[in-house]
Amino acid sequence: MFKKNKEKSSGTSIAVKTLKYFIPIAWKLHKGYFFVSLLKTIVDAVQPFVSIIVSPLIIAELLGERNIEKLILYTAVIAVGSNLLSLAGSQLGVIIEKYSEKFDNYFSVQMGRRVMEMDFQHTEDKRALDQVEAANTGMSWYSGGVVGICSPFFEMISNILKILGSVTLIAVYAPVLFLITAVVVAVKVFVTNKTNKIEIEAHKGLSKLNRVFGYYGFTLTDFRYGKDIRLYGAGDMMLGKWNSVTHEQISHWAKRANSELPWDHVSNGFGVARDIASYLYLGILVLTGSITIPVFTQMLSAGSAFQSSMSALLWNVQNIVKRTNYAYEYIKLMEYPAAIEKGSRHVKNIDHTIEFRNVSFTYPNTDVKVLDGVSITLHQGEHLSVVGLNGAGKTTFVKLLCRLYDPTDGEILLDGIDIKEYDYSEYMNIFSPVFQDFRLFAFSINENIILDNVNDAQNNVDGIIEQVGLKEKVDSLEKGSGTMLFKSFDENGIEPSGGEQQKIAIARALYKKAPVVILDEPTAALDPVAEYDIYRHFDTLVGGKTAIYISHRLSSCKFCDRIAVFSEGRIKEYGTHEELVEIDGGVYSEMFRAQARYYN
Ligand code: ADP
Repeated sequence: MFKKNKEKSSGTSIAVKTLKYFIPIAWKLHKGYFFVSLLKTIVDAVQPFVSIIVSPLIIAELLGERNIEKLILYTAVIAVGSNLLSLAGSQLGVIIEKYSEKFDNYFSVQMGRRVMEMDFQHTEDKRALDQVEAANTGMSWYSGGVVGICSPFFEMISNILKILGSVTLIAVYAPVLFLITAVVVAVKVFVTNKTNKIEIEAHKGLSKLNRVFGYYGFTLTDFRYGKDIRLYGAGDMMLGKWNSVTHEQISHWAKRANSELPWDHVSNGFGVARDIASYLYLGILVLTGSITIPVFTQMLSAGSAFQSSMSALLWNVQNIVKRTNYAYEYIKLMEYPAAIEKGSRHVKNIDHTIEFRNVSFTYPNTDVKVLDGVSITLHQGEHLSVVGLNGAGKTTFVKLLCRLYDPTDGEILLDGIDIKEYDYSEYMNIFSPVFQDFRLFAFSINENIILDNVNDAQNNVDGIIEQVGLKEKVDSLEKGSGTMLFKSFDENGIEPSGGEQQKIAIARALYKKAPVVILDEPTAALDPVAEYDIYRHFDTLVGGKTAIYISHRLSSCKFCDRIAVFSEGRIKEYGTHEELVEIDGGVYSEMFRAQARYYN
């Protein structure tokens, strides 16, 4: 059995909250959907009664006068009436499908926007990633989206109309049939309730498995991983891992199916008992002359219609609860609590001073202090080189500055004010970072550089392309900077080398024209000539901007005003290149000497 849902809110209160959230949005987006659905509801409700009412008339005619004209008329009413209504129902169903697509598109875009705007910290948090997955699957095939949530409502109305019609007929001729059917329906209510709970719990457990499964599927079919997978012979290992997740998924489903099976047997058993009791009761009524044979057949159809509509009604109610509970995951994602504090203070348009005041930091869910009492001040236009061994905390220092995380202790100040007090996007706007793991998109070179920062004429892009040493490459391309990167969507797209990718990323940072440029290992993928070129033009590239430059290659430190040497989360040495090489046994002087050997 699956564990009980620990969430405090009940399924019903979640359903109400979810409906309150989605229906006003859906109404605002496409009112037509509600009108078409209502029309379909009425058509669906009327359809079965054509046959229920007219069929006994045919039987009565056959047993009595056998008037051919009447028989033809009744048959025609059933054939044409039923078919026309069914046709109208299907046609309306197609229109509803189109609305469903429109709603799905809208909510997918909203979800994409939310994920893009989530605090960066969440992108490294398992719970947040699981929430994204739960929202994704919950809002798509599990709930069927807005139409999936609303359609049970309309079906409910249709079923209530059918119940009223069939109960009226039954009450007149065979009231006990109503009781027999009601008992079976009550059992079905109980059973469906049980199986729904099992299903919802199963979905919760599956979110993580689905995410892992998706990761393997994505990695194995993504060409970019192809080199490593082939050369390291990782194919079997990856398939093995994929296989094991698949088995876990299957056993999860099997567990669910096994939990549901006994309840299915109970429900089927009561179904059989109902059939026996109904035939027995109606047979006795015919034999005792209480009802005629046409009424006998009518009661059978009305009884079936009553039971199926009752079961459907119940299914509708439970479906609303079930589907809204799945869709609720979307609301949870939309309302996912922020990871960092955000203020409203405006960033002043002045020369900025950045100060780390005794900043310490431990990554969430870990207990190692990655930064430990870091204090440093950086004035506008200063160029700071940050060096240190791998894992010393250099990138974390930059992540804190860019507010991807908040310090655990101490504070970071911009122009004397804690950065938490500033409007988040205004604050982010002062930085142009190039991270080690920057990403380029399958867009044109131009679009990769400009992104959302359209601020100048094309000239500017061309100038920057030249500054970062990409002019020759771009000029050699037929479509110049309009050339697409990668072959994902364009067979003429180029596959830039690591160095070229890095240059495009640097061009993107420079184009943004933010006053603080952060380059984290910006030349790691460049050849020595290209690296030298970037260094040579560093002042032109960065100009009067503040620059933080993280690099393993200490030759880059020569053109920075100050160097901060990070070691085990602390700034161990701080000064100019000339000052630091003089420190006997110092971290910097050791590193410099070791590297100088290669450069000499
Ligand atoms: P550097 O840039 O100097 O190589 P980092 O700042 O990237 O060092 O990392 C410092 C330490 O923090 C390393 O031990 C690294 O494993 C750890 N670390 C980095 N990112 C995370 C993270 N998201 N969660 C937990 N630990 C992390």
